[in-house]
Amino acid sequence: MLPPLCPSSSRGYASTTSVSRITTHYTIYPRDKDKRWEGVNMERFAEEADVVIVGGGPAGLSAAIRLKQLAAEHGKEIRVCLVEKAAQIGAHTLSGACLEPRSLEELFPDWKERGAPLHTPVTEDKFGILTKKFRIPVPILPGLPMVNHGNYIVRLGHFVSWLGEQAEALGVEVYPGYAAAEVLFHEDGSVKGVATNDVGIQKDGAPKASFERGLELHAKVTVFAEGCHGHLAKQLYKKYNLREKCQPQSYGIGLKELWTIDEKKWKPGRIEHTVGWPLDRHTYGGSFLYHLNEGEPLVALGFVVGLDYQNPYLNPFREFQRWKHHPSVQPTLEGGKRIAYGARALNEGGLQSIPKLTFPGGLLIGCSPGLMNVPKIKGTHTAMKSGILASEAIFSQLINENLQSKTIGLDVQEYEENLKKSWVWKELYSVRNIRPSCHSVLGLYGGMIYTGIFYWILRGLEPWTLKHPGPDFAQLKPAKDCTPIEYPKPDGKISFDLLSSVALSGTNHEHDQPAHLTLKDDSIPVNKNLAIFDGPEQRFCPAGVYEYIPLETGEGSRLQINAQNCVHCKTCDIKDPSQNINWVVPEGGGGPAYNGM
Ligand SMILES: Cc1cc2nc3c(=O)[nH]c(=O)nc-3n(C[C@H](O)[C@H](O)[C@H](O)COP(=O)(O)OP(=O)(O)OC[C@H]3O[C@@H](n4cnc5c(N)ncnc54)[C@H](O)[C@@H]3O)c2cc1C
Ligand code: SF4
Repeated sequence: MLPPLCPSSSRGYASTTSVSRITTHYTIYPRDKDKRWEGVNMERFAEEADVVIVGGGPAGLSAAIRLKQLAAEHGKEIRVCLVEKAAQIGAHTLSGACLEPRSLEELFPDWKERGAPLHTPVTEDKFGILTKKFRIPVPILPGLPMVNHGNYIVRLGHFVSWLGEQAEALGVEVYPGYAAAEVLFHEDGSVKGVATNDVGIQKDGAPKASFERGLELHAKVTVFAEGCHGHLAKQLYKKYNLREKCQPQSYGIGLKELWTIDEKKWKPGRIEHTVGWPLDRHTYGGSFLYHLNEGEPLVALGFVVGLDYQNPYLNPFREFQRWKHHPSVQPTLEGGKRIAYGARALNEGGLQSIPKLTFPGGLLIGCSPGLMNVPKIKGTHTAMKSGILASEAIFSQLINENLQSKTIGLDVQEYEENLKKSWVWKELYSVRNIRPSCHSVLGLYGGMIYTGIFYWILRGLEPWTLKHPGPDFAQLKPAKDCTPIEYPKPDGKISFDLLSSVALSGTNHEHDQPAHLTLKDDSIPVNKNLAIFDGPEQRFCPAGVYEYIPLETGEGSRLQINAQNCVHCKTCDIKDPSQNINWVVPEGGGGPAYNGM
């Protein structure tokens, strides 16, 4: 067994601090060349499992559950360990969320009897285009991705927490508060497992008296289920050249709030989506507003902005705040109370951006490789199904006594073959052109026309596949070519400032640890990002982590990283125009403490 998780000492919004050298993390300044680490015992304790799963989201937990179900059906004993960086399962989950129950039905046909927290069947679907003052209703024709009949509005964090309970009941060893920091390899090049993060390192990178090395978890197969833009997946793409044949991944940032509202305005089961204002037609994005039936008049609302936006002055958080003031949105919120805030990146690349999914000793499932249906804004059902299919393929190798593997870590290629034969692939294929069709001169409206013709009539059967323009970070234009955007001041009732928002995410990190937002080169933020793009990280980070502070000399600025506030959305790693920021895992348990986001 792994040692018990130490609870974080404090909660709440963290104050800002500065360090002379910005990056002190060992991934940039190796410890074997650092005198302060001489004589420190770096040995790691190792555990052996059959399967190790990184990430306790819908994908990872579905995989874990399916493995244990199969083991029970076949009377086999297998050891399945799952590590999750959040202090509690579900505490780093952020989604809409409207859940398509298809994969859940498959995993647990008796989910109702088991008490799955699906309390709100969708009763009404509304879609509109916003102009600054008006809302133009758009009819939702049968067969369009926006049809939600048969789906449920959920608090995904609660659903994930319930999946965690089911997994534990089946015998999965679930370890919340443990972040997988490193991929381990066998000498033959196959994945051996992962190592969890070390703890007890000072902000300046020196060991504390309490330093403890992480644990090694070895497995025959390691399943990577880190969600969108996985930190370890990034390394695997390079090591095994997994993105060789696909297009670059494209992303959006989703910001979300939970509100309790006036009961008279509450319509449990209603789903509302909008596109248009406050974004211009060349900036992809839109809103969601879901009325939940959870015993109180609760709504989940959010705003997604495509991270391929071009204007470095755009501020996704402030776009979200001003959207709430639209005459068709504000009345729902008036008299209500905001109770939660958070943000998370989501994949928008679709089928053409999915990398190779298997490699010796491991595989990728869920939103890590980007199995997201973009126009539906749904990835939970596909994430769960990929976990189920991965486990079925892994299990048949585990019990195959005649298996002759070329590598010590097993290469479960059948998973990818089976996924390509499944409804997941068919579904993602049919919508593959909708998102890239928004790149024409007509922007969003071009995408809507394309959807009408090629999706609604042909169901995506057109013989071509459209391309994305390139990676999101490369789309930003220099500030000199763009117009600054003037955002209205928050009124403190409907719209809010960033700091009071982050306070509602419950985010906390051990203060005295190296910033987990690492810079490959500490000079690039000022010399390039600020000089050319006017410091876009100050605006795209939804937690105020990056601040340019004037120097005491009165000339110039320096970058300050308030790492304690990071909500783990991964946007900076995606959108940094210099690709100089590398998000790595902080000490396990750090990050947001979402309650059913
Ligand atoms: C704003 C927004 C709205 C959305 N709306 C919907 C919707 O309405 N319906 C829908 O179906 N989908 C929706 N999605 C997408 C949906 O949330 C994802 O498809 C789904 O959560 C993917 O599941 P996953 O398990 O692959 O990843 P995640 O849910 O992201 O889970 C990954 C888990 O891995 C953990 N982790 C990551 N790295 C490590 C590490 N190194 N070590 C340990 N743990 C790690 C994370 O903390 C997390 O708990 C939305 C997403 C967003 C952002
Ligand atoms: S620092 Fe990066 S990962 Fe953290 S909240 Fe800001 S943009 Fe997201």
